Amino acid sequence: MTPDKELARPSIHIHAPQATAKYIKAAICLDCKKRTRMIQFFTPWYGFDSTCIRCGRTWCDGEWMPLEFCRNARQSNIEHAKNKYRKMPPRNMNHFGLESI
Ligand SMILES: [Zn+2]
Repeated sequence: MTPDKELARPSIHIHAPQATAKYIKAAICLDCKKRTRMIQFFTPWYGFDSTCIRCGRTWCDGEWMPLEFCRNARQSNIEHAKNKYRKMPPRNMNHFGLESI
């Protein structure tokens, strides 16, 4: 391949930042309207991803996320949040930014 063709090749950059801190917070869920625990992951510049461990509803930076159109979507959200919480350290080296807790 000539150098000119190599320069013309498009490059793809996938931006997928990882969460840098985790929390469990007591709150009243806006979906199930009950007092519950929320598992939260903080990503710098993107805010908090929260999951209600009672009903499985998720929020990304305060925005209500739609549920997947499949069986046990709420239960899979709960399991995903719990497994991510168990695997992740409390804070990693890239943690920075203001958190509004
Ligand atoms: Zn809930």
